[in-house]
Amino acid sequence: MEPLDQLYREIIIDHSRQPHNYGLLSGSALQLEGFNPLCGDRFTVYVDLDGVIVRDIKFNGQGCAISTASTSIMTDIVKGREVADILQLAERFKQLATGGVSDASLGKAAVFAGVAEFPMRVKCATLSWHTLRRLLERVS
Ligand code: ZN
Repeated sequence: MEPLDQLYREIIIDHSRQPHNYGLLSGSALQLEGFNPLCGDRFTVYVDLDGVIVRDIKFNGQGCAISTASTSIMTDIVKGREVADILQLAERFKQLATGGVSDASLGKAAVFAGVAEFPMRVKCATLSWHTLRRLLERVS
């Protein structure tokens, strides 16, 4: 295995075992559930908006290692960012996961470039980005 692949695997395993921003947001938080019937991944994404800024984001639910790690990394990346910015990142992530097109702005999410070679896993990686995009498109 290439050293980079090994590093990417370790990042995915770490995030799937101890996901960041796992939990609930109550009160006025927006929420939306995403489901991937191919694998059974099911997550609800919660967003607390401050104007056009995502002030806080959390998620809960169950999924495979790839979908859990992807959601965890996504929440780290988008927290504190503007909605318009996040919608662009979601599009870039889709390009990455479906075509292996890398983009420096994606930061740690670049670890999912390899899923483009595994069509059955693409939806695992993109599920929560897609859910977040649908959620934010409602308010933008
Ligand atoms: Zn999955």
